[in-house]
Amino acid sequence: LTTKLPKVGTTIFTTMSQLAAEHGALNLSQGFPGFDGSPALLALVEKYLRKGFNQYAPMTGVQPLREALARKTEVQYGQGYHPEREITITSGATEALFAAITAVVRPGDEVLVFEPAYDSYVPAIELNGGTPVFVTLDAPDFAVDWEDVRRKITDRTRLIIVNTPHNPTGYVWTRNDLDQLAALIQYRDIWVVADEVYEHITFDTYNHVSLAQHPQLRERTFVCGSFGKTFHVTGWKVGYCLAPAELSTEFRKVHQYLTFSTVTPIQYALAEYLNEPEHYKSVAAFYQQKRDFFLRQLAGSTFQWKPSQGTFFQNLSYQTKVPDYELAVRLTKEIGVASIPTSVFFHQKNDHKLLRFCFAKDEETLEKAAERLCQWP
Ligand code: PMP
Ligand code: GLN
Repeated sequence: LTTKLPKVGTTIFTTMSQLAAEHGALNLSQGFPGFDGSPALLALVEKYLRKGFNQYAPMTGVQPLREALARKTEVQYGQGYHPEREITITSGATEALFAAITAVVRPGDEVLVFEPAYDSYVPAIELNGGTPVFVTLDAPDFAVDWEDVRRKITDRTRLIIVNTPHNPTGYVWTRNDLDQLAALIQYRDIWVVADEVYEHITFDTYNHVSLAQHPQLRERTFVCGSFGKTFHVTGWKVGYCLAPAELSTEFRKVHQYLTFSTVTPIQYALAEYLNEPEHYKSVAAFYQQKRDFFLRQLAGSTFQWKPSQGTFFQNLSYQTKVPDYELAVRLTKEIGVASIPTSVFFHQKNDHKLLRFCFAKDEETLEKAAERLCQWP
């Protein structure tokens, strides 16, 4: 069999998590919480399991969850999405991203990707015959260079993939970023996929601005979200796509044959849990406390950082001449702290000397990890 994805191997998340397990290291590499979802949410799942909500959900997702999402989006962004026509529940944001990209991209199309980029975008583009065109976000701020974006848009550009808050840099797009994007695509047949899985995790004065809030962008955008990040249940793989009816129709044609529908009892549980806005509004403060704790513990280390603006990742930079991949492996083996080398999020060899650490862990783990990092080198 000739491979369709010659550049794809095992993901860095699997690789580093395995290495961490082999060496008994503290695993701050792959992004997942080191604690459970709330007991109230778990109890709701159990309730729906026992009540017999165990057969196929409707293709678009269960009605109470679509309605709860419509209300949440209204509360959060002052923007309505119609629960019947504009909201689709998916098996994680990964599925939503893949379905949205597949709904739009045809062979020969170009897709703008900001890099460093989350690893699932490019394979999805390439499987659909598209060509990724990269716009690099430069250290240390990783802000968008709009002139560069303008230069890279051609008649073949069909889609732009946005990720805010951004994995792995933590950069949070500003209102100005959204205006710039809207102006650039205004008179063109270009659509947008917005990966907003960290929508509820922003810090300090940084606030998430959703593409859903921007009237012009809303009409062109598939907004993809994930309950896994917001409610500390990444293993459930339940996400969603918000998009205008015309786009949702095409999205659903793909989703229908990708998975058809998503796990039923969990959807009912999430619907009930979402009715209390505090459940998602409290997440930012919860993670800010963890970020601050981790950074306080790192005081005195040789690593340097800018506090993350959003997501549950903190990047640390270093001076030594070792490439980041090699350093991530060495730290895992030698001091027992696993991280992600950020160079893997670029399509070409690159070394910003930056490691990504996931701080969605209990304080004991963060304290131990920081203590070990402080002893390096
Ligand atoms: N996008 C980004 C930026 C992510 O970090 C992740 C998960 N870590 C996903 C998408 C995938 O989300 P899910 O687990 O809901 O598929
Ligand atoms: N999104 C998670 C991260 O950035 C990993 C998810 C996965 O393992 N595919 O670490």
